[in-house]
Amino acid sequence: MTVNKFIRSLLNLKELSVTDFKLKVRKRTLDLWVKPYKNGCLCPRCRRRGRIVRIMDECRLWRDLPLYGCTVMLWYCPREILCPTHGRTQENIPWADSYARVTYRLEYAMLVYCQLMTQKAAAKILHIPKSTLSDLLHRTITRIRDGHRIRGLKCIGVDEISYCKGHKYATIVYDIERACVVWVGQGKARESIDRFFNEMLSDYQKRHIKWASCDMSQAYIGAIEAHCPNVTLVLDRFHIAKALNEAVDEVRKQEWRKASVSERKALKGLRWLLFRHSSNRSKKQTRVLNALRKGNRRIHRAWVLKDEFEQFWEYRAPWAAKRFLKRWTATALKSRIEPIRNFVHTVRKHIDRILPFIGSRLTNAIAEGLNRIIKIVKNRASGFQTLKAFTDMIFLTVGDVDIPAQIPVGFRTL
Ligand SMILES: [Zn+2]
Repeated sequence: MTVNKFIRSLLNLKELSVTDFKLKVRKRTLDLWVKPYKNGCLCPRCRRRGRIVRIMDECRLWRDLPLYGCTVMLWYCPREILCPTHGRTQENIPWADSYARVTYRLEYAMLVYCQLMTQKAAAKILHIPKSTLSDLLHRTITRIRDGHRIRGLKCIGVDEISYCKGHKYATIVYDIERACVVWVGQGKARESIDRFFNEMLSDYQKRHIKWASCDMSQAYIGAIEAHCPNVTLVLDRFHIAKALNEAVDEVRKQEWRKASVSERKALKGLRWLLFRHSSNRSKKQTRVLNALRKGNRRIHRAWVLKDEFEQFWEYRAPWAAKRFLKRWTATALKSRIEPIRNFVHTVRKHIDRILPFIGSRLTNAIAEGLNRIIKIVKNRASGFQTLKAFTDMIFLTVGDVDIPAQIPVGFRTL
């Protein structure tokens, strides 16, 4: 085995042969002069062999995976060839994309590492500055997602997420059936979500959206109902439960403000107790809440109404659920507790968007699950300065394209 062949096998360099090498011990760099193995001079578009017209004067270099602390660089002067169909063009480079300055192998490692860790940590492992890595990541993901079309969208979820400390928001659209993110856009207003429907979907696709789930934001509801003629909108169960919890908490706050010092003692520690679902409350906790009946009638009343409302989600028959909701809202209105009454008005306003839940059992739970992964990514990076960087990471971790799997097969090694 010659030394060149040895290096080639050792570094597992595919589709190229090594013609020369130079190891700079002090600078810890290994330079390899390479050339395409067997299949050189191919047209990048049609993969046919062409006649060499010119050899480029300057060598190009590509960064490869680092080796034992050594930076590895590949050097090659690409040939200009004459393709019978496409004319003069630069030959296909088998180990990297036409305009990339790094090899497919490095791109693959970068994508996989960034799914697992922060960009900073990945940059350290790969021996590249962090800003270069962010740049590379953006370019690679954009190239891979270029020309990608959304397909087979039947069931969507829409949610908002903040991405910067300055309360900047982004709107995220999920494909609930396939559990992935299909779109990310700046802002949470009507224009943002309109942009998704206008730019990403054809009229045919909009007609095929059968189900949608979102929170009670008027912008999202309005846009979904305006763009998708055949949609059944189901307001997200957890957002409704949250609204009711907030109403109960408002009652507690009002009572707290009114209470005297001695009365406040009885109201201490109620906040999280009131939020608890009846199924994960201990007997002791239930006793504390029942004692409120004597301590504070208004909080007790609000809590009982909240507990009763939980039943709604258990119904299987739409007619029974409707009857329950009618009775519950009537009782709740009589309570004369302002925050609860406001909640009732919201329920009545959206009743046609709440009842379909019973038949469909559609929730944003999958979207919330993905949202949790996105939040982990966000917190790991301690927030993102730009939406561009955030979008890259969202598409890389929970996007509708498996991005690392788009790198050519032979180069998917770490
Ligand atoms: Zn060609």
